[in-house]
Amino acid sequence: MPNPAPQRIADGKVVTIHYTLTDEAGITIDSSRGSPPLDYLHGARNIVPGLESALLGKAVGERLNLRIPPEEGYGPYNPKGVQRVPRESFPDDIELEPGMQFSAEDESGRGVTIWIAEVEGEVVTIDQNHPLAGKVLCFDVSVEQIRDATLEEMSHGHPHGPGGHHHH
Ligand code: ZN
Repeated sequence: MPNPAPQRIADGKVVTIHYTLTDEAGITIDSSRGSPPLDYLHGARNIVPGLESALLGKAVGERLNLRIPPEEGYGPYNPKGVQRVPRESFPDDIELEPGMQFSAEDESGRGVTIWIAEVEGEVVTIDQNHPLAGKVLCFDVSVEQIRDATLEEMSHGHPHGPGGHHHH
């Protein structure tokens, strides 16, 4: 009996990974280990480009150690992305804290994500750079599961949990 070829990561696969993300100094930024693993839809830009391209063609059980430059991660840091705005630009009933994320529109009406960098009285410093922009990302990633995406997942551009069940 021939062994069936193992599934390999490709566009249109829902891939389950465990990962630990550290910075260049080895400080852990984020980790799925000890929590449920992460599902993503390959080819749909659910994860940073450098991680997605390194996982292409990998099989369950493979483990990679990657050093991803900012250009393949969350992009270079753009100092022009930082702005100081009045506190009253934000809803009164939200307590603003550094690291909070908001959806906003730029001058041309395009939807952008902004992060709160600092709150000083009536002045809020906002940043359009992702908090990890400009940083080298060191990933220790292992492939846990690979399955075909459902048509619904393909059309939504993201996975729907175990077995493709809708969860949002
Ligand atoms: Zn969906």
